[in-house]
Amino acid sequence: MDFSLSPQTEAFVAKTRAFMEKHVIPLELKLHQPWESLQPALKAARAAAKEAGIWTPQQQLPLEEFARVSEELGRSPLGHYSTNAQAPDAGNMELLHLAGTDEQKKKFLEPVRSGSIRSCFSMTEPGRAGSNPTWLDTTAIEDDGQWVITGKKWFTSSADGASFAIVMAVTDPDAQPHLRASMIIVPCDTPGFKLLRNIPVMGPGGDGWPTHSEIEYNEVRVPLANLLGGRGAGFALAQERLGPGRIHHCMRWIGICERSFELMCKRAATRQLSPDTFLGSKQTVQTWIAESRASIDAARLLVLHAGWKMQREGQRGARQEISAVKYFVAGVLQEVVDRAIQVHGALGMTDDTPLAYWLRHERAARIYDGPDEVHKGVVAKACLRKYGEGK
Ligand SMILES: Cc1cc2nc3c(=O)[nH]c(=O)nc-3n(C[C@H](O)[C@H](O)[C@H](O)COP(=O)(O)OP(=O)(O)OC[C@H]3O[C@@H](n4cnc5c(N)ncnc54)[C@H](O)[C@@H]3O)c2cc1C
Repeated sequence: MDFSLSPQTEAFVAKTRAFMEKHVIPLELKLHQPWESLQPALKAARAAAKEAGIWTPQQQLPLEEFARVSEELGRSPLGHYSTNAQAPDAGNMELLHLAGTDEQKKKFLEPVRSGSIRSCFSMTEPGRAGSNPTWLDTTAIEDDGQWVITGKKWFTSSADGASFAIVMAVTDPDAQPHLRASMIIVPCDTPGFKLLRNIPVMGPGGDGWPTHSEIEYNEVRVPLANLLGGRGAGFALAQERLGPGRIHHCMRWIGICERSFELMCKRAATRQLSPDTFLGSKQTVQTWIAESRASIDAARLLVLHAGWKMQREGQRGARQEISAVKYFVAGVLQEVVDRAIQVHGALGMTDDTPLAYWLRHERAARIYDGPDEVHKGVVAKACLRKYGEGK
């Protein structure tokens, strides 16, 4: 088995790391400021990414190679945003690329790709279990050559400042559950689109891209041509979006783990408990370091294998592997960030390092894109089937 990177990927990864050190990591201390005030610095970073040839890297590289780049970008909370590889735009670009008409690509995909606008993805509803995306209340009814959309969504990430939403709505209530919903593109300035609030998520609701909004769709009218993919294809498209998305998330989380690990080791090696004792000399800390090292390496290998299998056998063929990495890496992420905070003591609780930001923002890793329990169910059922269960 060859674990080496191709020379091209190696060069891309090195370029990305240099970009992160120079343009992104210095922005971290400003993370708690209003999004608007970060714009001049972020625009400069985005311009530098374009110049370095690392803009929208997920569309430049095959999945397995982008995975290594995503890890580099994950080392800072603004890495993906600075190169236009951020959620939810990366997933929406993929959807539009896959299922968009020529006109939709021109009107919606191109401006997101160039970075001139942002987008959001509106599926989960406060009144329905998000872990069962076949059961939605939001409807889209055909009327007078338009779709009329009515419903309430929440946790629509990055809606604040987005130009359009891709909305999942029931168009065919009498069809079988997996064929009931469709995806429809809704410009956010359409009458009836109302952003009710940025939901406080383990802290203030904030503003701009790093937010999660509650949205009311009150008889929102858009042209029939805004249907994305076929009528009733919403569920199938959502699955298409989530497969590579889970690999992207996992590699971003591994980037977070690596940076947290580095911070933990640096602190342990330099923090003196007394004139002749360093924190790193304590066996508990050494155990955390040793276990974190092995867990991160194991997580990376699992994700690269899942990506490798998905490229060869498609999402269906790699379903079990994709589910396994989703909960495994989310668990490693939570453990490593938590240990790093513990080693930093009070400093770990401040925003002087990115650790506290990650603890607040990434707890959700075990919930979005399928909660741990759902993915564990997929893996366990596949295992049990070999022994006669689950038939
Ligand atoms: C930070 C964040 C960002 C998000 N961004 C978006 C977004 O951009 N767009 C969007 O549409 N949605 C988004 N979501 C919503 C996300 O997809 C849902 O939260 C997720 O699907 C779970 O749905 P739910 O919250 O309704 O939980 P529920 O479905 O009510 O589940 C609650 C809990 O029940 C348990 N559970 C559920 N199903 C099973 C099962 N089969 N077996 C055993 N236990 C089970 C799990 O522990 C789960 O956590 C986001 C969520 C978060 C937290």
